[in-house]
Amino acid sequence: MKASLPRMEINLSQIRDNAHLLSELYGQKRISLIGVSKATLGAPQIARAMIRGGVKFIADSRLENIQKMKEAGIAIPFVLLRTALSQAENVVRDVDISLNTEFDTVKELSRHAKAQQKTHKIILMVELGDLREGIPPHDLPLFVKNVLTLPNIEMIGIGTNLACYGGIRPDDKNMSRLSQIASSIEKEFQLNLEIVSGGNSANYEWAQSTENVEGINNLRLGESLLLGRETIDRKPIPGLHLNAFRLIAEVIESKEKPSLPFGDIAQNAFGDVPTFVDRGIRRRVIVALGRQDVPVSGLKPINSDLEILGASSDHLILDNQNRALKIGSEVEFHLDYGALLSAMTSPYIEKTFLNS
Ligand SMILES: *Cc1c(COP(=O)(O)O)cnc(C)c1O
Repeated sequence: MKASLPRMEINLSQIRDNAHLLSELYGQKRISLIGVSKATLGAPQIARAMIRGGVKFIADSRLENIQKMKEAGIAIPFVLLRTALSQAENVVRDVDISLNTEFDTVKELSRHAKAQQKTHKIILMVELGDLREGIPPHDLPLFVKNVLTLPNIEMIGIGTNLACYGGIRPDDKNMSRLSQIASSIEKEFQLNLEIVSGGNSANYEWAQSTENVEGINNLRLGESLLLGRETIDRKPIPGLHLNAFRLIAEVIESKEKPSLPFGDIAQNAFGDVPTFVDRGIRRRVIVALGRQDVPVSGLKPINSDLEILGASSDHLILDNQNRALKIGSEVEFHLDYGALLSAMTSPYIEKTFLNS
């Protein structure tokens, strides 16, 4: 059977290698890893590759993705990154550990855990400046005190998330703050916090450069496992595969055309008034891929002769340095995180797993 187009080719052994190298690297600092599967929609094959590489938990922001991985038979502790009160019953049923910042939600988890005769584990997220999710540090002691009164809830750790909304860099200052918060909570309430989760793929530079990770003993990694980069400067992490994902699409037109549109220029399909540089008559190709599939700014043609000129909903236009590409031939792209996220979510793009 001929492979379908467009398709995403996903190299599972490269994802496993990335997980292995990062597990070793962070393991030297006694930091365990949670593999984050949300960008892959919880593809069970990818979760398995992460687990083979050594991650100790799988986390996702969507309950549906966790359910899919469990149904596929993956047996590892699952962590829910984003917890909604309305889902509490299913969270308790399907998830081992959830991240939380609202007492009402934890109360609801407790109620359902009691009804289901289970203990549900929680990690409380602390706000350290990025201003996405998190309990302000000065509210944490009272929050913990109240949580400890709830039946069937076990508080196993605290965590923080940086570099996501506010772009705040993980550094010795905020990481040390999290460590100190953890130890003061442990002392005040005589608990042992099994997990102190310092962040995500943006914590790489900090972890490499710090003298002392103090109490931080866990990170939650998505992008660096999948695309091999840290996420402060998007620099490659030495030894990791950067291109475990490749997007492949089909050439549907290949013609010589002027580089300047002719006629009266008005708005394009997306309400922008485009501008163009006159480079004379050029060989251009159209590939059957568009903005409905992927933000084209996140695509990079693997063939360096090709340059993306623009795209509409369903047509991607490339300059081909006056060389011809045959109709029906394939063009391959590397992707950034945003492009990966949309391409994985596009129902029009077939997902093909290699080296399973
Ligand atoms: C998405 C997410 C992660 C993973 O982030 P990466 O930058 O992909 O490593 C970690 N923690 C939380 C809470 C998340 O939502």
